[in-house]
Amino acid sequence: MIFSRDTSILNVMEPIVGHLFEDHYVKTGLLKCHCEKCRIDILSLTLNHVPPHYTSSQAGEAYVKALYQEPQLQSDILRELTKAVQVIQEHPNHELE
Ligand SMILES: [Zn+2]
Repeated sequence: MIFSRDTSILNVMEPIVGHLFEDHYVKTGLLKCHCEKCRIDILSLTLNHVPPHYTSSQAGEAYVKALYQEPQLQSDILRELTKAVQVIQEHPNHELE
């Protein structure tokens, strides 16, 4: 099967969840642990609970921005993000140094 990246599909929830996580948790300093492992675990756990929303990758940035402005979508994602942050911070998978 040939699967060209040029015509790939994008789950727009990935950048949207990423942005919300940055704005509400990373920049605000609310996270107990900022390591990459915890961040990726929080994002993937959240994405597993948010229904995917696919588009062609060419539709791109404008579409993501428009969706990102929707208050209902934001509050749905933030609810899942908050749960994921709690789960991962209570049970982190990072290596303890
Ligand atoms: Zn960590």
